[in-house]
Amino acid sequence: MRRPFIAGNWKMHLDKQAVNSFCDSLRASSHSDGVTVGVFPPFVYLAHVVEALAGTDIVVGAQTCRPEEHGAFTGEVAAVQVKDVGASHVLVGHSERRHVMGETDVEIRARLDAALACGLDVVLCVGETLEEREAERTGEVVLGQLDSGVTGLDGGELVSRVTIAYEPVWAIGTGLTATPEQAQEVHAMIRSRLATAFSDEISQGVIIQYGGSVKPANVEALMSCPDVDGALVGGASLAYESFAQLIEFNT
Ligand code: PEP
Repeated sequence: MRRPFIAGNWKMHLDKQAVNSFCDSLRASSHSDGVTVGVFPPFVYLAHVVEALAGTDIVVGAQTCRPEEHGAFTGEVAAVQVKDVGASHVLVGHSERRHVMGETDVEIRARLDAALACGLDVVLCVGETLEEREAERTGEVVLGQLDSGVTGLDGGELVSRVTIAYEPVWAIGTGLTATPEQAQEVHAMIRSRLATAFSDEISQGVIIQYGGSVKPANVEALMSCPDVDGALVGGASLAYESFAQLIEFNT
């Protein structure tokens, strides 16, 4: 039985006051015990959010990390530093990191390995652009990113510490959402690849989130797909009122 995981990626949004009031609301929230809830704040607020949510079951993660432990990487933050301030998770391979910052599969894998090595759990984002979908290359692109991210990992570690987020690039921040059928098709493809690469049992244990304009109006339809185990949410995670509807939808 996979435990749904619903996480808010705040990207480069919110200010100190909004972060504080969001954390106050989250602390008081009544999300279901059966759902893992998480937030990924901007780096400047990360340690503060960890402290503000201490003692709750809400997971807090960084939006990326640098694999090296230290060094001359102005502006970057190491995985070990993310761990040091008490965060438990990190996103790797988000489409904005891939397409705006130009991160390659090899760099993303280095981040994932460094995060796991220092005790962080990982959300590995994969997804195709509109051009790739229209060229019928969705499977090739998504499975290529998946293979690059997880090949050679220990199966038990994959199940317990790595979440896959399928995020079609054309649906992120655009208001366009994959239909439940489109999401399910790719999620099933991902799970089947994991079954081949690891085992049926491992593939059945891995959490696969969907991300791309998830909002209160569509969360239930997406979450009712058999292989959709949660959501990675951008825009609708910025106001507590809409995020609350996502984390409480099945309570
Ligand atoms: C995201 O940033 O991962 C995302 C899915 O954004 P949005 O929900 O705004 O499409």
